[in-house]
Amino acid sequence: MKDNTRLVTGGRHRNDDPAQTEFVNPPLVRGSTVLHPTMAEMRSRVQRRNAGDDAEPVAYGTYGSPTHHALYEAMNQLECGAHSWAFPSGLAACSLAIIAYVHHGQHVLLPDSVYWPTRRFCVRWLAKHGVEATVYDPRLGAGIERLMRATTRVVYIESPGSHTFEMQDIPAIAAVAHRHGATVVVDNTWATPLYCKPLRLGADVVVHAITKYIGGHSDLLMGTVTTTAEAWPALRESIHALGQTTSADDCWLALRGLRSLAARLAVHRANAERLIAWFQARPEVERVLYPALPDDPGHALWQRDMSGASGLFGVLLRDGLPPHASDTIADRLQLFGRGASWGGVESLVLPSSLERSVTTLPGPGRMLRFAAGLEAADDLIADLEQAFAALQLPG
Ligand SMILES: *Cc1c(COP(=O)(O)O)cnc(C)c1O
Repeated sequence: MKDNTRLVTGGRHRNDDPAQTEFVNPPLVRGSTVLHPTMAEMRSRVQRRNAGDDAEPVAYGTYGSPTHHALYEAMNQLECGAHSWAFPSGLAACSLAIIAYVHHGQHVLLPDSVYWPTRRFCVRWLAKHGVEATVYDPRLGAGIERLMRATTRVVYIESPGSHTFEMQDIPAIAAVAHRHGATVVVDNTWATPLYCKPLRLGADVVVHAITKYIGGHSDLLMGTVTTTAEAWPALRESIHALGQTTSADDCWLALRGLRSLAARLAVHRANAERLIAWFQARPEVERVLYPALPDDPGHALWQRDMSGASGLFGVLLRDGLPPHASDTIADRLQLFGRGASWGGVESLVLPSSLERSVTTLPGPGRMLRFAAGLEAADDLIADLEQAFAALQLPG
């Protein structure tokens, strides 16, 4: 089955009960307590749950309702994984996907381009709990070998970075990590499961901020983690030790978002390409950061490992523009909202203020991130025209 079909059918028809198959969508089941027909059946369900069967038969609300498991089934299919779980935010999914595989005295590696709250979690929070984090250059590929320690248990990847758009060589990094017995966790939010399958590329664990393209409407905060069969028991233990659950309503919204993901992404990308062509013709722009561009440093990896691109990209303004040029542009834009996050139907702009420790950034005020929404590209371009006119370049 092709992915576009999986998006539409995933998690539906899980139930043979004819009463439940009359409606297109899986039922929205809210609940904590589950009733059992007999004590013997209750004990047997709890036993199966303790043996690792999280899904059927449902034993208690924290192990997920049929709505949750419909989403998990859809994510398993899309990511070619064995198990999935939903978390109350993308960041919670990132943190849990790390905590599950590392403990006091051990070490994690994370790319310099990583989503900054993930960086803060590793560098500050994990450090307080005796786990050391080393930041690496996202482009080093198999060169990660020299950073591996006997205690390295997690190699974290985010490809491409969501502000600077460096592609990472997932297969090369995973091969080294596995030789050292480390677990490879990939944040796949930019590409979505439609355009990249990290588990196929050698990763053990995939994280998504469902908040972005999968939720798709800026009305949902959620993360998911999908793992191989081997990586699941450790994650499962952490999930249940920390009581990680989400509401069934949110899972239902995530499923609803999945259904239209392919159609939305096609327009996000088409609009991104129109905007990028406009930026590339502007004298104020030094470079557009987007791995689908043939001259992007990550293009070869993108072409090898991904089957598409989403609508989020960076714009590097040339040196020597008035100070605060990026703020001036952002403030003048009217159709582009000024805000964090991305993946909703509306276009957004965000001047990037970043922290880096092993790679270098251009000077302040030169980088902007754009999320191309679903508006008419002509209107977006007209908005950019008037905003850039405010820079009043001589000549
Ligand atoms: C937004 C984002 C997250 C976190 O998602 P939230 O739901 O906002 O916590 C994680 N990773 C990436 C790449 C993101 O863009």
